[in-house]
Parts: sequence; structure tokens; C-alpha cells
Amino acid sequence: MKICTTVKEMHAAAHAARREGKRIGFVPTMGALHEGHLSLVRAAKAQSDTVVVSIFVNPVQFGPNEDLNRYPRPFERDRQLLENEGVDFLFAPSAEEMYPAGAITYVTVEGLSEKLCGKSRPRHFRGVTTVVAKLFHIIEPDLACFGQKDAAQAAIIRRMVRDLHLPVEIVVCPIVREPDGLAMSSRNAYLDPQQRRSALVLSRSLGRVVEVFGKGERNSDRLIEVGKQVFEDEPSVRLDYFEIVDPETLEPVVTVRGAALVAVAAFAGTTRLIDNTVLQP
Ligand code: AMP
Repeated sequence: MKICTTVKEMHAAAHAARREGKRIGFVPTMGALHEGHLSLVRAAKAQSDTVVVSIFVNPVQFGPNEDLNRYPRPFERDRQLLENEGVDFLFAPSAEEMYPAGAITYVTVEGLSEKLCGKSRPRHFRGVTTVVAKLFHIIEPDLACFGQKDAAQAAIIRRMVRDLHLPVEIVVCPIVREPDGLAMSSRNAYLDPQQRRSALVLSRSLGRVVEVFGKGERNSDRLIEVGKQVFEDEPSVRLDYFEIVDPETLEPVVTVRGAALVAVAAFAGTTRLIDNTVLQP
């Protein structure tokens, strides 16, 4: 696996692969890799000839009081995991490399970026779309894999790709969970044993909504109420939002008639966790 740390090097390597007729699959990450990330790498590998993974803790998508500085950066372990998966290129630029001094250009998917996590993390999605647009320009992948774990992010990226006519296919892969149901996340490493147990309330609340939906309930307010009730048994976890929205527009759904995204975000201590499921009538 070749490691590229500069934009020039990465661009040249991807360009050379494409000239050889290779189909390039790309997986953007912030590192601290787990099975969720590796499932995306495997999906990219199955559908392309050359796999590029980026590890970049993107400062622009973190708010001023968020965990940018303490975000885990186990680079050597990540490198080994990607090597084992047969990844061809690892792009690991510095913040200065990605944002040269004076950079003031952003890509914003207006409207969608203020929904769900965008409400409590005001400039988060602008940071995500800006860095993903940059990465797409540097690597020019044929295909890029994202996780359903970040369902709003996936919807926003799909919209950006459509609106900007970017020639890349977006593949969204299922949520990978721990055996007890907790959605895998690099941030789970922050949880102490008590918080780790309490954090199961997210997946449990979604499970309860699916159950009640299965019995025929289609009214979103009532389904949301059922989900929120589960949080009442776990007062140590503070709910940020519990919503049922259209998976593409992220607009609230009143009655579930087509596919609907049930999305939850909550704090266990200072750690913000998210999870979701899709209801299919
Ligand atoms: P991150 O490193 O958190 O920015 O995530 C990089 C990519 O991995 C994103 O597309 C995430 O949606 C995806 N991802 C993170 N956790 C999971 C998971 N548990 N299952 C599937 N994909 C995931």
C-alpha cells in the first residue's frame, strides 16, 4: 500500500491508475478504523480495481467546543488494517495540505445541511461537503462508499453529487453494529463502561419503533413518542433529537407511506452518538 501525504502525489497516483484503465473506488474516513469502515473498504474493493482510502480528521467539520483535538488518531494501527485489506493507496494529508493558508471556499448543500445533526452542529455538514468535494477532485474516483450510519451525510453527499454533476457513483453501505446492537463508531472509544451500557438506549429505541411500526402504526408523532419513551428509562443519556424524515429530503414525515428514516442523536456524558433505521411499509 502506498501512502500519499500531499495533494500532488495523490492526484498523480490516481491519475496514473486511471490511465491504466483502472476503476477507482474511494472510501473517505477520519481514521480510528473499525469494522464499519472496513465494510466500506470491502465494498469498494468488490466494485473497483484500485482502492483509495483517506484518513483525514477534517477540522472544518468540527464545532468550536467539539472533540477535534482529542479525536483518536491511531495511525499505525489504521495503516496495518488497511494494508491487511489490500488497499492500494492511503491518502493521509495534513490539515495545512488540505486547507492552504487563506482558503475561504466552501461547498454547501443548502437547506439539507441544517437538518438533523445540522441543527445542533451548525457548520458540520458544510465542512463535510467541502472536504468530500476536495477529495473527489483530488482522487477523481469512479465510485465512493459511505456508511448508512451517517444517513444525513449520505443524503447530503448524494445531493451534492447530483447538483454539481460530479461523475462519481455513491454507494451507501449498511450500519455495522457491535454484537449487542451498538452502532460502531470511533467515538465509542470515549465511553466508560457505564456509558457504554447506557448507550444501548439508541439502538433499543429504534428497535422499539420498528416493532410498533410492524404492528401497523404509521403516525410519526406516535412512533417518535414510543422511541422517546425508551430514553426515559435511561436518564443518564441526553436526547438531542429523535426524528422521522424522508431519507432524501430529510423533511419530517407525518404519516409513513414510503421509506422513512428514523434518526436519533444523544449524548452519553459528553460523547455525542447517532444511530438510525429505515422503515419500509
Ligand atoms: P468517519 O471516520 O466517522 O468519518 O466515517 C467514515 C465513513 O465510515 C462514513 O461514510 C461513515 O458513515 C462510515 N461508518 C462509520 N461507522 C459506520 C458503521 N458502524 N457502519 C457502517 N459505516 C460506518
